[in-house]
Amino acid sequence: MPGSFVISLDFELHWGVRDHRSVADYRENLLGVRHAIPQMLAAFARFNVRATWATVGFLFFARKADLLAALPALRPEYEDATLSPYPELASIGDSEAADPFHYGASLLRLIQQTPGQEIATHTFSHYFCLEKGQTLDAFEADLAAAQLAAERFGLGTKPLQSLVFPRNQSNGAYLEACRRAGFVCYRGNQRSPLYAASDTLGDKGLVKRGLRLADAYLPLTGLSARSLPEIAAQDPGVPYDVPASRFLRPYAPRLGFLEPLRMRRIEREMTQAAERGLVYHLWWHPHNFGANTAENIAALERLLGHFGKLRREHGIESRTMAEVAGQAAVFSATSSSARQDSPPVNANA
Ligand SMILES: [Zn+2]
Repeated sequence: MPGSFVISLDFELHWGVRDHRSVADYRENLLGVRHAIPQMLAAFARFNVRATWATVGFLFFARKADLLAALPALRPEYEDATLSPYPELASIGDSEAADPFHYGASLLRLIQQTPGQEIATHTFSHYFCLEKGQTLDAFEADLAAAQLAAERFGLGTKPLQSLVFPRNQSNGAYLEACRRAGFVCYRGNQRSPLYAASDTLGDKGLVKRGLRLADAYLPLTGLSARSLPEIAAQDPGVPYDVPASRFLRPYAPRLGFLEPLRMRRIEREMTQAAERGLVYHLWWHPHNFGANTAENIAALERLLGHFGKLRREHGIESRTMAEVAGQAAVFSATSSSARQDSPPVNANA
């Protein structure tokens, strides 16, 4: 069975970094996103590549009055109060035109108009599922608000099917709630202790972060890619895990001389996945491309070109997260009916 090449993007603007970076700190990237996203979409269209845009629900709005009217009544009460974005709503601008850091409606329209792009969720409020103080009820209210925002945006009824947990805090105990809210899949973490989910405090180790940086250039961890049967074999009561294979780090000018290593590392993994018929899942944040945009777009085009070659040689196809989940569902339905059709083994033993 040929493999799949999946791209997911955590589209969040300032809402994804606000607890550790001010708008002033990150201004270049946040403004640069508005140039980077159209270039990313053009590259996807040119190479006929699909992507899943896991979008923070706050970004579906263009006007503050509409955003405030759509907030859930039940909100997370994190022990570390700085993690909640809700108090910040008092100080944001009135519209996307006045405040390009906190609204994303016009960018979402561009994504919606580009063929093959899936609009998904990064939760409504960039919700942290492993932080102390928040509850399952508050999480469910957040997901309901996300679905409603997407409906009002004109995407249909319960239109969001794929979910990316903010800061990769995937919480196994919350998966049933995700299914109830209409989600068919989520992005699990890359398979290595270096990338395991933890709360903010648990993730601050310098050694772990240094090793993750080195892993972008050198093969410290093995290929993290699953086959469709492995994905399909999961617990049928919860959304499918379409796990991350690798974070596409932004171009780092100081490490520019290592750029060929970084590219070759990803290309080699893509080739292995294509040869073995696996699902290879690359992800990043659009704001990572907000600075050094030309270098980042060039890197993306190089990878998409490599994918085009693998598609011709091995039949690997570009799929959204929801499409991989759909394929997994078909696979489990046909393999379970095949099991029912075949006679039981050792029935009389
Ligand atoms: Zn995020």
